[in-house]
Amino acid sequence: MIKTIAKSQKPISVGMLSLGCPKTLVDSELVLGKLNPDQFKITTNMTDCDVAVLNTCTFIQEAKQESIDKIIELVELKKAGRIKGLVVLGCLFQRYSKTLQKEFREVDAFLGTGEYDKIETVFSELAQRKKLYKTNSQKPIISIGSPGYVYSAENPRVALTPKHFRYVKISEGCDHICTFCSIPSFRGKHRSRPIHDIVKEIEQLAEDGAREVILTGQDTSFYGRDLTGKYILPELLKELNKIDGIEWLRVLYLYPSCVNEAMIQAIADLPKVCNYLDMPLQHISERMLLAMKRGVAKDRTLRLINQIRKTIPGVAIRTTFIVGFPGETDRDFDELLEFMSDTRFERLGIFTYSQEDGTPAGDMGEQVPEEVKRERFDRAMQLQQTISRKNNQKLIGRDFNILVDGQSDDGSGIFYGRSEMDAPDVDGMVYLHSTKGPKHPKIKPGDFVRARVTDAKEYDLTAELIK
Ligand code: SF4
Repeated sequence: MIKTIAKSQKPISVGMLSLGCPKTLVDSELVLGKLNPDQFKITTNMTDCDVAVLNTCTFIQEAKQESIDKIIELVELKKAGRIKGLVVLGCLFQRYSKTLQKEFREVDAFLGTGEYDKIETVFSELAQRKKLYKTNSQKPIISIGSPGYVYSAENPRVALTPKHFRYVKISEGCDHICTFCSIPSFRGKHRSRPIHDIVKEIEQLAEDGAREVILTGQDTSFYGRDLTGKYILPELLKELNKIDGIEWLRVLYLYPSCVNEAMIQAIADLPKVCNYLDMPLQHISERMLLAMKRGVAKDRTLRLINQIRKTIPGVAIRTTFIVGFPGETDRDFDELLEFMSDTRFERLGIFTYSQEDGTPAGDMGEQVPEEVKRERFDRAMQLQQTISRKNNQKLIGRDFNILVDGQSDDGSGIFYGRSEMDAPDVDGMVYLHSTKGPKHPKIKPGDFVRARVTDAKEYDLTAELIK
């Protein structure tokens, strides 16, 4: 911890904004966990703090633009004296370090994805600079290396989500070679954390109020392959299923070619593991799967989904598709729509292909025009909206356990939450009402309640509290 700042000094307020995915959010929590709470006051108010820390994302064009726009905004706040220091972290810097240093000279410090254990040194150096923070003449603090960092349960975290649901990274990096993806270039090769270390962390999070733990990584199905030569996600889930206080374990980012019978059976059998399976497929046309180097064929994908549905009755399958990948024809796209109509995924996201420098697909010919990508995106989303509404309407009259996430601040005071079929931030919500009980039942975020679905929209449900 930083001991350089005089005790008498007013705590330094540190604003943190974490862009991108849950993996980056965990990194942001770890970075804040390194700051001594006696000397640093964490705030999410980025417009009025001493030091603003921005954790960036870069995996597709849109995410890159959002990160760059935010840096520009924060630089303007610094010029206006609203913030004194600016620290930029993460994937965008790891990928474009030279460009960012040249473009944003007002930034006080840059850290790559492998450098988070250096945050203390950075803050103490910043603190020691005469005016606490550099004038433009001083060189920024730069820390970048190969993305080899893997955290452990010893690393404290400051929660950036409500405490009742927490993300846990079981691994870092990725060994796959999807031709559209730049992530391995700035997150490195796959590295798994040992089972005992993940168990220890989740025991700590349970003591700290976690009821739901969401396991994440670039590819969670690859878990343990680097440690044991085998996929050991089922073994991990068995151990985590024993932890008191945790009610739900949710697994994100399974990779279709790695998902095997043992994993599907573990999700089916272990009571705390949600009947929820997140498995990005990206496409279904054989031509596209080959061009994307996904390492899985169409018929294997179809067999896998049948096996999942047979083994886990009532499972919610989440997936994502890319439309407009180089060379995608109308026929390929129609094949994708047909697959969506036949499979009726419970949860689904669509991305338009983002031409990324440094990726094989970025140099491919037959790039699809933006307007065609847009048109395909709209058609696929419209189809999924219809499918999702019909799927949800079949749930009317059924009872579910709901994890309460919060209360509406629109004056209605309605509580909302999620069923085990809904991951935070990406899936639907369940809005709770109680006709028989008190208008505002004595429930709070983190409580589990029993509710009966009374209405269904495309993505969200309404449910009556029954217990
Ligand atoms: S699995 Fe493919 S898409 Fe996902 S991070 Fe790895 S290379 Fe990228």
